[in-house]
Amino acid sequence: MLKLNVREIESAGHLEQTVSVPAEKHRIEMPDDFQMDGPLAVEWKADAFDDEVMVTGTAGTEVVTHCARCLADYRFHLQVRFEDHVPLTEPQVDLIEEIRQALLLALPMKPLCRGECAGLCPHCGKNLNTEKCGCKSGEIDPRFDKLKNLKLDR
Ligand SMILES: [Zn+2]
Ligand SMILES: [Zn+2]
Repeated sequence: MLKLNVREIESAGHLEQTVSVPAEKHRIEMPDDFQMDGPLAVEWKADAFDDEVMVTGTAGTEVVTHCARCLADYRFHLQVRFEDHVPLTEPQVDLIEEIRQALLLALPMKPLCRGECAGLCPHCGKNLNTEKCGCKSGEIDPRFDKLKNLKLDR
């Protein structure tokens, strides 16, 4: 589906297509923490020049991963652009490698479920996006508690 025939592009001069490629057809592997969920939506345009074919396009897919701050699973849309040049002497253009590299480069280094993810409470471990906990963020150092008691004892 993502292998384009160079002869066809050459004789047409220009070709374009929108395709939805199911996972079992593209076989793009994501790194451990990421999972592609759903088909790969690809839009490409191919133009023939004197000595080469140029293909440009976009590819998008849904990705599931977990948040680096609160550890919850979340899904996001990954959208990339790609470009490929192939000499007219080649029989075909295989877009999958260009798309694979573009997708991998676009993955976030530190995925966050939302920009302002509150993360987990450092004291009790609750997910602060979904629940409140009784812990005070600026908890009093226990050593000061003793001092306070000393004062009261006097
Ligand atoms: Zn989060
Ligand atoms: Zn807490």
